[in-house]
Amino acid sequence: MTELYAVIGNPISHSKSPLIHKGFAEVLGQDLDYIAIEGPLGRFAETVDAWRKKGLRGLNITVPFKMDAFAYATRRDSAAEEAGAVNCLTFEGDSAEGANYDGIGLARDIEANLGFAVAGKNVLVLGTGGATRGALGPLLARGPARLTVAFRTPGKEAELRALFPEAKALDFAAYADLRDAYDLVLNATSATLSGEAPPVAPKNFARGALAYDLAYGKGLTPFLRLAREAGVEKCVDGVGMLVEQAAEAFQKWRGVRPETKAMIERITVPLV
Ligand code: NDP
Repeated sequence: MTELYAVIGNPISHSKSPLIHKGFAEVLGQDLDYIAIEGPLGRFAETVDAWRKKGLRGLNITVPFKMDAFAYATRRDSAAEEAGAVNCLTFEGDSAEGANYDGIGLARDIEANLGFAVAGKNVLVLGTGGATRGALGPLLARGPARLTVAFRTPGKEAELRALFPEAKALDFAAYADLRDAYDLVLNATSATLSGEAPPVAPKNFARGALAYDLAYGKGLTPFLRLAREAGVEKCVDGVGMLVEQAAEAFQKWRGVRPETKAMIERITVPLV
């Protein structure tokens, strides 16, 4: 019997998740359908309940519902607890198991796809929003020498610090106080979505650095342009992260992990 999965967001028409999951299913010969649901704002739980009655087996969650999904879940994995957000729900009877695969998707893309080992490196994460919160655990677990989080608005860094009280490698700085050069610079701000670059300086990119914009599908973003102008040769966007988190969800639901390389190539928008 064809089983039903979906992604929910608002807006949702831009979502690549149906294409990714249907592509995985085709390659692996899995009998499933995957649709995009535009969730009405403020009515997450009712909407999901209605789809579950129609047989929905699993759901990916994107902006702005990841916190609603966190509240909806009847249990959550440790990454979801750490991120304070759920991006994947799995339904079984009355239970709704919440997970967050964004951070692990990012870490897998950096290490497995891009061949960049985080251990011992200096890592700079720009922004203190949801994506940063989800990424910190998986990045710290890989043992960077230093992981600095740059913030624009003071306040949220204290919340992030409290989540990782033992992490000696973790520190925080306002952009104006970023003095050092980093081997990996991750743009986890939403600046790209408003056509801007975060105020990171050319000196913050070490020689041979990797510049990574979590936003995807936008070609050469203002942040990646800034990195290129600073002499950075290795510039990538977040398409690999997107595909890797999808692969984690697919594995959770179907018990088999899809290959990601061909899918990443298929949906990559050239950085020009
Ligand atoms: P949030 O809205 O939770 O956080 C946004 C952060 O960006 C805040 O810290 C905000 O700072 C900061 N910010 C916004 N504009 C600027 C600016 N001009 N200069 C400096 N800082 C700025 O967003 P998310 O964390 O959910 O998303 C961040 C990015 O990650 C987005 O581009 C999103 O598309 C991407 N993403 C990609 C995924 C993937 O699979 N590839 C998955 C999830 C997210 P302040 O607090 O001061 O407002």
